[in-house]
Amino acid sequence: MNLHEYQGKELLKSYGVQIQEGILALNEHQAVDAAKKLKELYNSDWCVVKAQIHAGGRGKGGGVKLAKSPEQAGELAGQIIDMMLITPQTPPEGKKVRKVLIAQDVYYPGPSETREFYISILTDRGRGGNVIIYSPDGGMDIEKVAAETPERVFTELIDPLLGLRPFQAAKIAFNLGLSGQAFKQMVHFVDRLYAAFLGSDANLFEINPCLKTSDDRIIAVDAKVALDDNGLFRHPNLEALRDTGEEDPTDVEARMYDLNYVKLDGNVGCMVNGAGLAMSTMDLIKLSGGEPANFLDVGGTADAQRVENAMRIILKDQHVKAILINIFGGIVRCDRVAQGVVDAYKSIGHIPVPVIVRLQGTNADIAKKIIDESGLQVMGATEFQEAADLVAKVLKG
Ligand code: GDP
Ligand code: MN
Repeated sequence: MNLHEYQGKELLKSYGVQIQEGILALNEHQAVDAAKKLKELYNSDWCVVKAQIHAGGRGKGGGVKLAKSPEQAGELAGQIIDMMLITPQTPPEGKKVRKVLIAQDVYYPGPSETREFYISILTDRGRGGNVIIYSPDGGMDIEKVAAETPERVFTELIDPLLGLRPFQAAKIAFNLGLSGQAFKQMVHFVDRLYAAFLGSDANLFEINPCLKTSDDRIIAVDAKVALDDNGLFRHPNLEALRDTGEEDPTDVEARMYDLNYVKLDGNVGCMVNGAGLAMSTMDLIKLSGGEPANFLDVGGTADAQRVENAMRIILKDQHVKAILINIFGGIVRCDRVAQGVVDAYKSIGHIPVPVIVRLQGTNADIAKKIIDESGLQVMGATEFQEAADLVAKVLKG
């Protein structure tokens, strides 16, 4: 689950990470009020208007703008709210902006120079631990830095048992070229950031830029936060931050039905129980010349209703030219799945693509009878390979 910048920053702040403060605004009027409030708090006319969408690169797309007065903040908010913001990370048509964060200006002049760093935390499965990836060359061109000067991007592996050790935070601050007060602040920043990452069961934190202000404070100016869906049950307060308006409607529906669904680019819809069987089914589809249109695990409790919901979700994908239902009945009873297929046909009315069904295991014989007697145009298969061959055959027409 992804968070908006303003939500990610609140999460960081709750763990003691210093952030660029801001106030959310839904319209021009609220934006002016927010900017006036920031003016009182931080004694500056300037503020930044930041589009809140689930995509980065907003600065490049015109979604982050500096205002030199509360009135101007209102004007800019008026321009940004409701616009289709196009960035390198949005779909080509862009994403509609529904709210903006009015943030304090933190690039103010002072005794030393302002510097932008890049800091992210994610799990490196290959190395078996979380890594902190960081660079002294943060800001809007970090992709270029990674491509052209990879030696300017550092990685620190965190031992899962020992956690982040103080010398590691110090090493990061050192490699970022800091000293004195800024060095101390950075050590604290990294320590708190890592605590927030662990505490929220996050998959990804990306702070770009992490800023050294001209008076040597270290603050998160941006926050990209992705939380682990499997950890969300432990964090109802974070789950409540979900913005379904930003998510793919099919994903939202699949979650509502508790189905594990991942959309892919192919043309064969798959409905399978169990992640292992789902993956081998996808492999087999590929070997037979097809391309899986999705990963869909209906789970160990597949019943008629779930099968029907899954069928609807698969059919929303216009690229699907055939559906392969591959179920191994262990705890799941095949007859229930078969009934689900028949019910789906009846209630959906018209299923425009061929459906190949392989049901093996508990009550497979009853299942076969249900399908046969339904009179539906469903192709049955007993063996795995047989099912894949049928898929290949219907794809060829
Ligand atoms: P992104 O483009 O989606 O990653 O959005 P960011 O939150 O990273 O903001 C983009 C850029 O806006 C930053 O890299 C900064 O250069 C600039 N920016 C953000 N906050 C301020 C600010 O308070 N003052 C000024 N002058 N620029 C800012
Ligand atoms: Mn950014």
